[in-house]
Amino acid sequence: MAGSSASIERIDVYGYELTYAHGDYVMSSGRVVNRLESTIVRVTTADGTTGFGEVCPLGATYLPAHAAGARAALRELAPALLGADVTNLADAHRRMDAALRGHEYARSPLDVACWDAFGRIAGLPVAALLGGVLQPALPLYVAIPLGTPDEMAAFARRERAAGMRRFQLKLGAAPADDAARVRAVLDATGPGDEITGDANGAWRRQDAIAFANLVKDVPRFRLEQPCPTLEECLAVRHRTNLPMVLDEVITDLPTLVRAAGEEAMDQVNLKVSRVGGLGPARAMRDAAVALGIRLMIEDSWGGDVVSAAVAHLAAGTPADALFAVSFMNDWTNEHVAGYAPRSRDGLGPVPDGPGLGIEVDVDALGEPLFSVAA
Ligand code: MG
Repeated sequence: MAGSSASIERIDVYGYELTYAHGDYVMSSGRVVNRLESTIVRVTTADGTTGFGEVCPLGATYLPAHAAGARAALRELAPALLGADVTNLADAHRRMDAALRGHEYARSPLDVACWDAFGRIAGLPVAALLGGVLQPALPLYVAIPLGTPDEMAAFARRERAAGMRRFQLKLGAAPADDAARVRAVLDATGPGDEITGDANGAWRRQDAIAFANLVKDVPRFRLEQPCPTLEECLAVRHRTNLPMVLDEVITDLPTLVRAAGEEAMDQVNLKVSRVGGLGPARAMRDAAVALGIRLMIEDSWGGDVVSAAVAHLAAGTPADALFAVSFMNDWTNEHVAGYAPRSRDGLGPVPDGPGLGIEVDVDALGEPLFSVAA
């Protein structure tokens, strides 16, 4: 309902750089990242309420998404949201549908900013608006960059000393070398710890099958996104007893349902920006829980705003259905909301204030890249 006190009068889009806290973030196929351009969106309503969202693609070759693309798409999307009521997310999404097809990652920060403002108006945390809180402190995982077995084991030991109990190893190189990496990290962890091996889609089927055979007796271990397509991952799935996690290929609710119908996975890695924001991600979260599929909940990359959004979504997941969450503001050096939410001892707290429950220091972001106003 345009014209209400909750209608959007202004949208500002800001850019800032995020640097990785542990040197180089190395993934399969030679993908190396140590700094990324992040984009923050602020919506302001007629009554002066503000809401924030953030999108930070993991470079240009991780998903079909990149930082400049997010900003270009936001120039198309933002004007369509002027006059939209932040308490009417269905209408906000209808407006974005009418302005630009696809580009879910660029829609995500607008969706999240609306939820943040909605929560501030309602006086409720976003988690409450998304269905409630089952876990006020979330188990975290940390990704370990692809390196030598010794380097990866040392990384795991450091993080374990800080309270971390869930680890994701970046793999996707030669199968025998990857198996050595897994065994090194297994030795560095404890009996209650859980490990995921994430090839980020880099293996050919035969590499993934060879790798799975080499680690078939490794306890506490699961395979994540071994190959680039759902079909290839299914072929691997049929030849291994390791639990299977799918990530990059699960782009929307219909794909999740189809993959579940084909018994393609035991766990899904749900990233807020990949699927277009908290609204679509909530539907996928709830479907996965109903289908008996466990969840990792996170985003491609990001800082304080992304970490808060992830926390609010993950809070409504039953404990036995949630493998782990990432607080990406632990992986990066820059903090736009005073390093909130702040993890402790391997757990991520769900902010309990209204909206996202964090306060973005907008002055520290400098001048907006662009703004649109009614
Ligand atoms: Mg992954």
